[in-house]
Amino acid sequence: MNQPVPKTKEQLDIKKNLEVLAGSVQYVKGIGPKRAQILKRLGVENIMDLLYYIPREYSDRSEIIPIAELKNLEGEVTIKGEVVAIQELRPKRGMKIIKVAIHDGTGLAFGVWFNQPYIKNQFKNGDKVIFSGKVNLKNYYRYRKIELNNPVYENLKSEEHVHTKRIVPIYPLTEGLTQKKIREMIKKAIDGYLHYMPDLIPDFFREKFGLMPIDLALKSIHFPENRSLLEEAKRRLIFEDFFLLQMGILVKRKIIQSDKRGYACKEDQKLVKDFLNSLPFTLTNAQKRVWEEISKDLQRDKPMYRLLQGDVGSGKTVIAALTLIKGIENGLQGALMAPTEILAEQHYLSLKEWFDVLKIRIELLTGSMKKKSKERILKELKDGKIDLLIGTHALIQEEVQFHKLGVVVIDEQHRFGVHQRDLLRKKGLHPHVLVMTATPIPRSLALTIYGDLDLSVIDELPPGRKPVITLQRGPEARDKIYSFVKEQLNQGRQAYVVCPLIEDSDVIEVESAIRMAEYLSNEVFYDYRVALLTGQTPRDERDKIMRDFRDGKVDILVATTVIEVGVDVPNASIMIIEDAQRFGLAQLHQLRGRVGRGHAQSYCILIGEATTPEGERRLKAMVETNDGFKIAEEDLAIRGPGEFFGTRQHGLPEFKIANLIRDWQVLEQVRREVKDLLDKSPDFINSDLLKVVLKMRFKGSFV
Ligand code: ADP
Ligand code: MG
Repeated sequence: MNQPVPKTKEQLDIKKNLEVLAGSVQYVKGIGPKRAQILKRLGVENIMDLLYYIPREYSDRSEIIPIAELKNLEGEVTIKGEVVAIQELRPKRGMKIIKVAIHDGTGLAFGVWFNQPYIKNQFKNGDKVIFSGKVNLKNYYRYRKIELNNPVYENLKSEEHVHTKRIVPIYPLTEGLTQKKIREMIKKAIDGYLHYMPDLIPDFFREKFGLMPIDLALKSIHFPENRSLLEEAKRRLIFEDFFLLQMGILVKRKIIQSDKRGYACKEDQKLVKDFLNSLPFTLTNAQKRVWEEISKDLQRDKPMYRLLQGDVGSGKTVIAALTLIKGIENGLQGALMAPTEILAEQHYLSLKEWFDVLKIRIELLTGSMKKKSKERILKELKDGKIDLLIGTHALIQEEVQFHKLGVVVIDEQHRFGVHQRDLLRKKGLHPHVLVMTATPIPRSLALTIYGDLDLSVIDELPPGRKPVITLQRGPEARDKIYSFVKEQLNQGRQAYVVCPLIEDSDVIEVESAIRMAEYLSNEVFYDYRVALLTGQTPRDERDKIMRDFRDGKVDILVATTVIEVGVDVPNASIMIIEDAQRFGLAQLHQLRGRVGRGHAQSYCILIGEATTPEGERRLKAMVETNDGFKIAEEDLAIRGPGEFFGTRQHGLPEFKIANLIRDWQVLEQVRREVKDLLDKSPDFINSDLLKVVLKMRFKGSFV
């Protein structure tokens, strides 16, 4: 008989404690259901969330200033004294002013409150109190009266000060909440629940790095006794953020690696070889190396889980094709997911050309597809008649069922979250997964953030590519630009014109693209063939336009950012981007990546002028470098990590306090240490504590 392993007392307690902490904040004294609703808007739902609701800054009110010194001061001060007078004034109808005078032996000062009559009853003569607030010297010059407007007040004899006479936390707020209220709620949570909080960092780890225990850290992050305890608390909690991130990633990785149920493919057979022979080029060394890495993965009996990183134009599609063919040749079905319909269609068109020759059946599934064809595809997919399904998010809908999904390729990873990646993976039984991205993240950072994936990098462009020449020009240079474009078109080249990005309005964006296309085809390029492509162009038309452009039947393609990723027409050598200052840096680089794919010298012309310092930095970076790696670093620097990684959509856990860029070195250190820990004591992974905490902190990103 299999007996469940009895739990130690400590384990039981931890579980119970965590259950308490997972309880709704409304059970904290003084909160209740109504305030719980308000807190929810801040992402605070359970008690642990509240304990971890980190102040955005602090106001140092620990120094008490003699009232006599106030006349030389400005800004926020803290004073103490005995209440000597309480006045209620009604200077005009509908206005009530309460003034409370306090004396500290050096002088007299007034706390002044407007239209808060209840304040009057908070004080009585003889009370010893503290005020914190801004000094208002207006009445001092006239009447020698020193006033503090709307000060925060506390009883001087309080055992513990929350709002004054200390370093006071200032929190991010939302409507219906004041600093005072949230401070009090957090104080209640700390007093009532801190002792339930288990330390997530093992003792020996804490000792090794001199980290304070969790209860002191949480207390000090909210109500620090002094500056140095505050700094120590921050350090501890940053460490903890990264510790949990790394645990989550490495645990997931171990779980994936220990999965022995993948489909082991055989060594390269006929189809793979035929495909390689059918290509009009040979693989670059980087492609060969990457293909070897992937190939080996596919031949193992555990699922591959690999990130393929390569700058735009480095030739990731061929690698995707090889991966899929190898799986299909071994009797598996494949899926290829792309972030936009256009890109999915592009992949479909180019892969179909390659795959028809090999007698591989491929189909395209998108959201806008007609019901009938969709039903047919779904049926054939389930029956195993389709070898490869290409599509958008449509692929992860529930109704999509495969017969034997064994290889999954996800293009342009940065557009999908961890969650979507996992959904597609789960449509198969332990399929091999390859995710591809053109966002070159520094390798060490990639390892840290996508540490659950193995990493392959194509760090070489196909031969014969000339770097794209990038220029920035003001709108007045348009005539010149257009005659240059004509010269190029006359040499047989083709051009893209990308219309301004209009945020939040697809309709206006499309309208402006229509106008641009009309203007160009009627007024400027009337001797040339101009076509328009937007997100609203119907599917059939879109296909035709893209095909015509690829076949050279269209000279100029006017488009919105729908062509941002994946479009591949080597003969196109000019990319004009209107109002370039509006685009993000990564986006500009992606767009530029549409040219420079053939042998001709290519140009990217950015029309527009920066209106912000960031805009200027973006345009400058584009003109200065073609290197996706440098672009990514600059982008990261301009936007900051949160936006750069799009934390939320990536499904990456949100840090409570750590900052990927600022605290980068801590992250590296933690990563090494955690790896070490798991190598030495692999059982740590199975600890209940870890599992529950990962789940609570990451809300399902990893487990
Ligand atoms: P990306 O990495 O941006 O997805 P693609 O896969 O679209 O790049 O490849 C860009 C272009 O380079 C395509 O036209 C492709 O056919 C071509 N290409 C890929 N590999 C090679 C190679 N080894 N030699 C020459 N051209 C190649
Ligand atoms: Mg691509």
